[in-house]
Amino acid sequence: MAQAQLTIDLAAIRANWRALAKLTTGEAGAVVKADAYGLGMDKVAPALAEEGARRFFVAIAEEGVRLRRILGPGPEICVFGGHMEGDADLLRDARLTPMLNSIDQMLRHVEALPGHPFGIQLDSGMNRLGMEPAEWSALRDIALAQNPVLIMSHLACADEPEHGMSAFQLRTFREMTDGIDVPRSLSATGGILMGEDYHFDVTRPGIGVYGGMPFADAQRVVELLVPVIQTREVTPGESVGYGNAWVARVPTRVATLSAGYADGVHRALAQKGYFWAGETRCKILGRVSMDLITVDVTAVKEMPRHLELLGPHQTIDKVADAIGTIGYEVLTSLGSRYARTYTGA
Ligand SMILES: *Cc1c(COP(=O)(O)O)cnc(C)c1O
Repeated sequence: MAQAQLTIDLAAIRANWRALAKLTTGEAGAVVKADAYGLGMDKVAPALAEEGARRFFVAIAEEGVRLRRILGPGPEICVFGGHMEGDADLLRDARLTPMLNSIDQMLRHVEALPGHPFGIQLDSGMNRLGMEPAEWSALRDIALAQNPVLIMSHLACADEPEHGMSAFQLRTFREMTDGIDVPRSLSATGGILMGEDYHFDVTRPGIGVYGGMPFADAQRVVELLVPVIQTREVTPGESVGYGNAWVARVPTRVATLSAGYADGVHRALAQKGYFWAGETRCKILGRVSMDLITVDVTAVKEMPRHLELLGPHQTIDKVADAIGTIGYEVLTSLGSRYARTYTGA
């Protein structure tokens, strides 16, 4: 079988959420946008609900609709993107809670769905989503009269605890919300790790649940094993792959693996990234093709049937670091062609 094997450890996901929930002074929600960071909302969300998560967050209403079918009627589902034109039926039928980001969204919401729950997203400095302080001052009394269920904001630099931006955003968020009798939420994974001042009533962990940095104590969640289709010896002067991108200077054994950029193995990993054959690190040679990758297995004594890209030897963040991206992108890029196995259900 040439299909690569992606194993997702639901027990580790549950343990990571539990650990972050334990650190949280208030209630921990769970962020399952982008198909639970690429790991499968249909498996991940029920596991987290069983673990005790009662409030879930998605990016857009369509994700919320899918999540409602998966979770059933109980849990609250909050939509970061708020109430966009055309969302009213989705929000109503799936009983989703939009986080309203502007006066326009507020007006749209109360007009289309009077009495339907909503939250408010405030911009405390990131300038991405949410009402700015001046907008909020103008709308505040009207909005509060409609009983929002949550007021939230988002930190721009929570993965760098020393960054002054977080303290600035905390002050701004407090100025905008102190004295209001509505549950508040400021922190994702990074903010949870920065301590209680940042927790308020609800936290929104995502990447830490899925085993990524900045949650250094996270349990590993994913393993990706890629089958070896063929091996060959190349002699000095011979080239490997598209564009003759790599040329042997010494005799080299090359293994051809059955995965490529169509599976989310980034082309930028060419000549930079590694696979693991047991305890031996094997460099990627030449280009990453759509379906195939060539690696140097000269040092491998006994060729295993699969090489590891993600697993005990290599985290998502290690792979991300090699090409200047983040673990989040490595996870959400994982393709649909893998055989997916869920363990610890
Ligand atoms: C994605 C997201 C989160 C989760 O962030 P992590 O860093 O993955 O924990 C929380 N809140 C908002 C608004 C987000 O967009």
